[in-house]
Amino acid sequence: MTNYIMKLNPLMLGLSACLMLTAANAAEDTHQHEHVLPISDTHLHYSHDSVEMTPPERVIEIMREANLKLALVSSSDDNGTQLLSDLAPDLIVPGLRPYRKRGETGTWFKDETILDYVEALLEENSYATIGEFHLYGENAELPIPKRIVELAVEHNLILHAHSDAEAVERLLAQDPTVKVLWAHSGFDSPEEIAAMLGKHDRLWADLAFRSEVGSGGKLSEDWIKLFTDFPDRMMLGTDSYTPERMFYIPEHAESARQWLTSLPQEVAENVAWKNGHNLLMPVWNKNRIDGAHMAKSKHDSMSHGDHKHDTMSVDKVCNSAAGENDIVLRQQDSTIRLHPQGDIKVSEPLNVLLTLCGNNTENVELALDALMPAHGHGMNYEPVITEISRDNSAVQYQVEGLVLHMPGNWQWQVEVKTETGDETLQHDFNVE
Ligand SMILES: [Zn+2]
Repeated sequence: MTNYIMKLNPLMLGLSACLMLTAANAAEDTHQHEHVLPISDTHLHYSHDSVEMTPPERVIEIMREANLKLALVSSSDDNGTQLLSDLAPDLIVPGLRPYRKRGETGTWFKDETILDYVEALLEENSYATIGEFHLYGENAELPIPKRIVELAVEHNLILHAHSDAEAVERLLAQDPTVKVLWAHSGFDSPEEIAAMLGKHDRLWADLAFRSEVGSGGKLSEDWIKLFTDFPDRMMLGTDSYTPERMFYIPEHAESARQWLTSLPQEVAENVAWKNGHNLLMPVWNKNRIDGAHMAKSKHDSMSHGDHKHDTMSVDKVCNSAAGENDIVLRQQDSTIRLHPQGDIKVSEPLNVLLTLCGNNTENVELALDALMPAHGHGMNYEPVITEISRDNSAVQYQVEGLVLHMPGNWQWQVEVKTETGDETLQHDFNVE
């Protein structure tokens, strides 16, 4: 770890960061994708046979080659999803597929043991969706699908349904808040999809395995009408339902980029990545932070008993020597301490306890960010900062969900906001 502290006027900092960025990009920035339209691929599977064929590291590489902004992955069994999610939490949005192995698409909705499987996974991990599951017509009213809808509501999950319009409507009717991502847009026509989207504001639709859309690199009028009439609701997917289709992700992204040029730029960006991002990320960010809390309190109650451990006394934080991994930044009459709650590892969500110790902290506020100065970018996730205590001599915050998604030189930036002006303190560090 390199260690230095600098004080900069935030305006100056912005300026110099911009200059640095231009120079760095021209010369040696490793991001080849600067001008390639990102894609949110909202329909991927990495099931057991696919895990056997392609290692998870390779899958992530394929996804990065395709310049995916995010990948919604659900797998039979769930192991493949977890492998990818562990490797690239900045990229993977996990979905819970209610299948233990290939071949349960036609039986799961009558199989009691599916619920045990699903509930055990919900205990263990966090997800954004439940699906992709296959369900048609009246089967949506069977007890197992009904319980799945309840679980979705309880756990803040979006249903990812490979269904006909009838089953989608039956699912939506079971709860006034439940949201559905309609897999393959039901293989329906643009007119039929439009009718459904017009009727249900809790419905979104993916275009997985719809190669007729934009075939030949251009969209037909009926599809253009659908996308422009519902600019916020349609998204893309490759559907890697067989192992070899994993390799088709970049090609799929590239062909979508072709036909998206038939649309006004704003709509094209929506369909390419923003709609998937806007639907999934708020849900996923909330669930993974809630999940981290649950895991932490479980862990603490098992191993410590005293689970106030990390947040216990601000006095102690301010008056004791800094721990091995702690960072102490000094201002004129105060110090700011960063206490990472765990090891700093690439792509692993990290929480930091941020404490300001001083004489007059009453109207001071802090914010924490991390960026890579050489690349001119920061984290892909926005961390959540919560004030946990405040008195005259100290203010303490918990910052959750920091994800340093690449190895290399990073920089903590602590913004100190006071009545007389703002100041930014920096600390350089390295992530291996
Ligand atoms: Zn499907």
